[in-house]
Amino acid sequence: MRKEKFAPHLYPPPAEAAGGEEGGLGWMKGELELLKGQSLYRKLRVLEEIKGTRATVDGRKISLFCGNDYLGLSQHPKLIEAAKQALETSGVGTGSARLISGTQKRHVELEDRIARFFRREKALLFSSGYLANLGVLSALTQTGDTIILDKLCHASLIDAARLANAAVRVYPHKNLEYLEKILKRTPHLYPPPAKVVGGSEGGKIWIVTDSIFSMDGDLAPLPGLVELKNRYGAYLVIDEAHGTGIFGERGRGVAEHFGVSDEIDIHIGTLSKAIGSFGGFVTGCSELIDYLVNFARPFIFETALPASICAASIEAFDLLEHEPELRHRLWQNVKRLRSGLKQVGVPLLESESPIIPVVFGDEKKTLDAAERLLKEGFLIPAVRYPTVSKGKARLRVTVSAAHSEDQIGGLIETFKRLLSLAD
Ligand SMILES: *Cc1c(COP(=O)(O)O)cnc(C)c1O
Repeated sequence: MRKEKFAPHLYPPPAEAAGGEEGGLGWMKGELELLKGQSLYRKLRVLEEIKGTRATVDGRKISLFCGNDYLGLSQHPKLIEAAKQALETSGVGTGSARLISGTQKRHVELEDRIARFFRREKALLFSSGYLANLGVLSALTQTGDTIILDKLCHASLIDAARLANAAVRVYPHKNLEYLEKILKRTPHLYPPPAKVVGGSEGGKIWIVTDSIFSMDGDLAPLPGLVELKNRYGAYLVIDEAHGTGIFGERGRGVAEHFGVSDEIDIHIGTLSKAIGSFGGFVTGCSELIDYLVNFARPFIFETALPASICAASIEAFDLLEHEPELRHRLWQNVKRLRSGLKQVGVPLLESESPIIPVVFGDEKKTLDAAERLLKEGFLIPAVRYPTVSKGKARLRVTVSAAHSEDQIGGLIETFKRLLSLAD
């Protein structure tokens, strides 16, 4: 829409361009008005006095059913204590990139911890999962390579593919037959040239997917993807942002759940969701990590994560190992909420995770529903384009181990009332 309206463009934009009469940056107002007209305008909401899954918004107490803190670890006393101690000994900021003077003991400890937890040779921290995705795809791809993405991949993977030096292809959501068609048509060498990553001949194929799709809550068909990547000599890159800590017997993610961990070439994750802390990571073989240290620009040119954040993350991995009941409580809550919502007639997607989308389709209807839920004391924002396709707007309900039975029961009752009003 934006391109059609303003390209080719003049600067300053002509006066008739939406809201342009003010000159300067006035055209922005026009574009924002357009968003409002389409119920696509977004604004920030301030949470105060956050206590687990409860907070105060505009002076009113509400329950949060929208975050990704699936195990409630972000407020765990052990994480807080670990962060405090590191603050005392290491200060707030790190003041430098990792390769200059930003690497501290806790970065290395956390990277070792991550590698051990996922049973990989090595791991590397990034400032966020988003930057880990940008770093991996931009550093590893070369002219002649092809990146193949699931249509519903997270925005950070799409942006990463845009930054990468490769052709980009997209297959319909979870459609392995279509993916195979692309693989058959993609010229490539196999096995990759001896110099591997960094080899000048290129022609490598990178299949890239979320392990859990963040807006639909369904799982990627990892066993099928592994089979195809082996058959066609491609690499498989998975983004376990929503799988880490909650899927698999030990919380190692969806790859563990399917028993294919050893077949994943590159495993990317975030420490900001179930881990309850902050930052992103990549884990895999030691050549991969060494390569990223030398070529991944979001790693090389960013200031290192604070030691306090790393200390909290290390503590979280200990909790994942020693308190599996956190995961059990989460899955109990997922079951309770899903079956309760189904019982009162809420149309649910076949999600298999703590992400439970209620798809309304229409943007305005979704916004209205979110507004009514907030009045009843539940914060569940309306997810709209461009996060999901136009006409696929939804309430993205997420549940955590920290929700009480009362909160879950209250949400189910409120949905029931909402539905009866809609009839
Ligand atoms: C949240 C998310 C990210 C980004 O992780 P951050 O650590 O928040 O930057 C990447 N990929 C997926 C699938 C996500 O849901």
